[in-house]
Amino acid sequence: MSTKEPDSFRDKLSMIEEDGHRATIYPASVKGRFRNYRSLLQAFLILLYLILPWIKINNVPVLLLDLPARHFVVFGVEFWAHDAPLIFFILGIATVGMALATAVFGRIWCGWSCPQTVFLDGIFYRIEAFIEGNHHQRKALDKAPLSFNKVLKKITKWLAFIAVTLIITHTFLAYFTGMDHVLKIVTQSPMAHWTSFLVVYILSALFLFDIGWFREQFCVIMCPYGRFQSVLYDKNTITVQYDQSRGEPRKGVAADEASQGDCVSCKRCVQVCPTGIDIRNGVQMECIACTACIDACDEIMDKVNKPRGLIRYMPSLDAGKNVKILRPRVLVYSTVLIALFSGLIYAVSSRKNIDIQILRSADVPYFSKTQGTEEIIVNSYRLHVKNHTSSPASITVTFNDPSMDTSNWVLQVPASLLALNSHEFKMIPFLIEVPKSKLPLGGKFKLHLKVADETKEISFVGPEH
Ligand code: SF4
Ligand code: SF4
Repeated sequence: MSTKEPDSFRDKLSMIEEDGHRATIYPASVKGRFRNYRSLLQAFLILLYLILPWIKINNVPVLLLDLPARHFVVFGVEFWAHDAPLIFFILGIATVGMALATAVFGRIWCGWSCPQTVFLDGIFYRIEAFIEGNHHQRKALDKAPLSFNKVLKKITKWLAFIAVTLIITHTFLAYFTGMDHVLKIVTQSPMAHWTSFLVVYILSALFLFDIGWFREQFCVIMCPYGRFQSVLYDKNTITVQYDQSRGEPRKGVAADEASQGDCVSCKRCVQVCPTGIDIRNGVQMECIACTACIDACDEIMDKVNKPRGLIRYMPSLDAGKNVKILRPRVLVYSTVLIALFSGLIYAVSSRKNIDIQILRSADVPYFSKTQGTEEIIVNSYRLHVKNHTSSPASITVTFNDPSMDTSNWVLQVPASLLALNSHEFKMIPFLIEVPKSKLPLGGKFKLHLKVADETKEISFVGPEH
């Protein structure tokens, strides 16, 4: 652990021992204002995660990622495979939004809202502390020889972990299949839904491995965002930092009390760190900006009657006093983000609920029939309609050429086919009949049909005279 590290450059990870073995980290719990804010946010995010799959609007979940059906619902707005541009905008907003947040506030996502941190810090560390005790007691328990008490505590902890994990993974599945399906699989035999059962089983095993054992190593070794976030930083990025100008020379290093800085070398900031680093060594890649060291140090500063904030959110000291929020990279990310948001709003607002296409039938261009003394020219068409909404829809088809006399024209559309179920596609054949005497010279003209809310132009063909 970093408690053994010299306060200088180091070339190995904080959670690796000299001999290459993992140095298990037992973060101490901490109290303070950031702890309170994070607990509130974690409770909100966990509740939101658990509740969202139960909420439906017009019988559709507010959030659904049905991959096999390529049907996605994001806060009530439905997307289908043909809405790929919308999904591009959403993914673009998430990526650029993350880049912007990182450029301005560092790893704020990691410390405050990453699911790994929220579940681990908000639930699993608490269960562990409740069953095994504080960081000293947990470390002692792990080092202690096998005993009834140790086995009992470990079994109780892992049973609690498994119970919580199953709730989390079943909820996760509900985001992809809907809660109705999840309720089915939990009330029926696993063999009736063996694919879902297998998915939940594998997910639960991976989740337990991560949250119960792998923990901070995921953030440091595996997380792709953690890997590239440092390239998004600049000297104006606000991160959790130790104020060296105020803290140094720390106690134990300073020649005498008069020249000593504010750091009393209590290492409380190291004890509470979930990735085991010493923030006094500067910004480090393992730091997930969880703010635990801020609260820990503030508590110590209160005790030694020094001002709070020896560790605090601040830009790099190189930035000096003129910290720039509006700098080129922030402006570029913001501009791209605004463009993506505008694109998304435009794409959503111009999206059609019902897709309509009219095609001429591929056989003869027209045929004729006699009605009384009149020769009638008939053209046949196919109407392709797809209802993209989750409610049934019924469409109407009418002539829409106010400048033309359509009183003798006939539109023959099978009325029974004009009702569409939700998400239903139909191919509806229909005919248009025009008396030959009404045809213009040349026998060919454009006419307009109003189908649902849309006006479509089609061509009508007849004999040339
Ligand atoms: S908690 Fe504050 S005073 Fe204690 S070692 Fe860390 S920086 Fe120094
Ligand atoms: S250094 Fe501080 S902010 Fe960073 S991970 Fe450790 S405790 Fe959290």
